[in-house]
Amino acid sequence: MSNEKKESVSKSAIQIQHVNKTFYQGEVAFPVLNDVSFEIEEKKLVTLMGPSGSGKSTLLNILSAIESANSGQITVFGNKLFGANEKELTIYRRKTIGIVFQFFHLFPYLSAIDNVSLPLYLSGISKSVAEAKAKEALSLVGLSHRKDFTPKEMSGGEKQRVSIARAIVHQPKLILADEPTGNLDSGSSEMIMKLFNRCVKELGISVFLVTHNEQIGESGDINLRMLDGKIQNK
Ligand code: ADP
Ligand code: MG
Repeated sequence: MSNEKKESVSKSAIQIQHVNKTFYQGEVAFPVLNDVSFEIEEKKLVTLMGPSGSGKSTLLNILSAIESANSGQITVFGNKLFGANEKELTIYRRKTIGIVFQFFHLFPYLSAIDNVSLPLYLSGISKSVAEAKAKEALSLVGLSHRKDFTPKEMSGGEKQRVSIARAIVHQPKLILADEPTGNLDSGSSEMIMKLFNRCVKELGISVFLVTHNEQIGESGDINLRMLDGKIQNK
């Protein structure tokens, strides 16, 4: 799917330097990310674990350009997020990343194919091309036979596979997933992790996922741990 030139030197996917994030409630400051720095090369499956409240979702939301840091440098596939304007961030969200949520965030009354093609259609791609790409993405996640089903007619694992199809349909460079198996049984979780591995190995997409599951947290290529707003190890 990728039309990139072959390169022998691996490139950086994520570069984070001295990132700080503090939430304020009135005058009271709640520091959440405390001088976070790390670098990840492309085409890796990265897991991030850590206790509840340690700042994992905040970090992921900053990488998703849903939230902004207070200071530091954040570069994702050459896109500098800190200090970028809204237009640049919109292009970044649309082209560079795909997001997978714990609770799927699918439109309940739309079929699988409409859920997957809608973001393409909204970004200006013709309906027929958007549907053809959505069909291909659904086939990649093994759901061709469910393309006309709505979320209520699908299991949790199937819904998450539709979400993954939606996340890869525009051929992003990075998938960001916050506890994507948090709501699934162990069999479905295993299938979702196999799919993420295929995204990395077969499609050359980098995957960065937050998990509470020890086994998943120790799988993949790079295992990060977060404690009190700091990355513990690599
Ligand atoms: P995790 O995903 O590791 O459980 P989060 O990144 O969601 O942790 O949250 C880290 C801390 O930041 C928590 O103490 C949480 O209450 C706080 N926090 C998160 N979002 C906000 C917000 N919008 N306003 C205030 N505090 C927040
Ligand atoms: Mg969280």
